[in-house]
Amino acid sequence: MKATVVGGGIGGLAAAVALHQRGWQVEVLERAPAFTEVGAGLSIQPNGLRALDEIGLGDRVRSSGLTDPVTGIRTANGSWLIRNDIADLKRRFGSWATVHRADLIDLLRAALPAQALRPGIDVRHVQPDGTVVHSGGSSTADLVVGADGVHSVTRRSLWPHLPGPRYVGYTTWRFIAPPHQVEGSVETWGRGERFGQVPMPDGRVYCYVMANAPADSRTALEELRARFAHWHDPIPALLRSARPDAVLQHDTYELPKLRSYVHGKAAVLGDAAHAMTPNLGQGACQALEDAVTLAATVDTHGVSAGLEAYDRSRRPRTQMIARLSRQVGSPAHWTSTSLTTLRDAALPRLPSALFERSLTPTYTWTAHAAPHVG
Ligand SMILES: Cc1cc2nc3c(=O)[nH]c(=O)nc-3n(C[C@H](O)[C@H](O)[C@H](O)COP(=O)(O)OP(=O)(O)OC[C@H]3O[C@@H](n4cnc5c(N)ncnc54)[C@H](O)[C@@H]3O)c2cc1C
Repeated sequence: MKATVVGGGIGGLAAAVALHQRGWQVEVLERAPAFTEVGAGLSIQPNGLRALDEIGLGDRVRSSGLTDPVTGIRTANGSWLIRNDIADLKRRFGSWATVHRADLIDLLRAALPAQALRPGIDVRHVQPDGTVVHSGGSSTADLVVGADGVHSVTRRSLWPHLPGPRYVGYTTWRFIAPPHQVEGSVETWGRGERFGQVPMPDGRVYCYVMANAPADSRTALEELRARFAHWHDPIPALLRSARPDAVLQHDTYELPKLRSYVHGKAAVLGDAAHAMTPNLGQGACQALEDAVTLAATVDTHGVSAGLEAYDRSRRPRTQMIARLSRQVGSPAHWTSTSLTTLRDAALPRLPSALFERSLTPTYTWTAHAAPHVG
């Protein structure tokens, strides 16, 4: 059996590895000249690590990543809104790991034979009969996996009339700061803006800033430094240490709900199927869950029944998590003083059990033997 995977990001490579390990012939078509990722960190949560366990890579990520750095949310003056009990979270759900994105891509890429990787191939059109038209000619396969991200050509080819991704109203800057002493993975909320700091295994700190802004607006690093100059330590120092050429800015998009993730011999996964806000840090974790589930279903039940089972298993879960992600992040983007004052007074009083209960279905995922068919 042969699979053509469109897109060699985390989701596409994970799907290719999972299918390859089941004896499928795979090719991964990647538009970029090399398989790589942006210079930023990535938090792999307990469910994402369990998905990596399915392809034998979970422990490699646990041992090379920085595990369990989760701590909570603070206000701009440093007081705690939510402070997690890391030991308790770990006991309930398992480990977290923070990695450099490029390291995860390298790990996945190394689990594939070199001839499966086809960089520099731009996919132009995908047909439900398994034909993929691209800059190198065309490919035909028993299964096409559309893992080509939020602006997916696969999705547009299969469902040309669906609305595209929508801008959620805030933009994101990301950079990796030189080594700094930070107490854990902390997000700090202001009015319509927030700052995140996540320690990396080598002592450097992955930082991100999210702020309300019109789509396509661009902000210089100097402006960010001035904006956060009076926030609690070490935020001003982290921003001062950033190299202007290493700061990435991307607007935040999410995808309206799809009514199906499959069409004929093709399926979409990861951001191509359910691009979500980054608030829960679940986009890549869900792409990993999709990838191992898809490989298990099509390999166990055949492409047609397997894709139906994949859609039934993955669509409700990923759409529920996308909704939750949108909801948990929205109070950080409130701009009314009365609302944020209320928020800052209410959040510290919330029982931590409430927070844990809302996230339990997300974190407790395990790969079942292939989902029920028929
Ligand atoms: C600021 C921010 C922080 C985040 N933090 C986290 C986090 O901590 N944890 C987490 O789990 N998730 C996080 N996410 C989400 C996560 O980054 C994405 O959900 C995940 O990378 C999606 O992977 P993917 O493989 O589906 O898509 P992508 O990573 O977008 O990969 C798609 C690939 O397809 C290729 N491609 C596109 N079009 C074509 C074409 N026509 N032909 C050939 N190739 C093509 C692209 O070049 C790319 O390599 C975050 C997202 C953002 C924006």
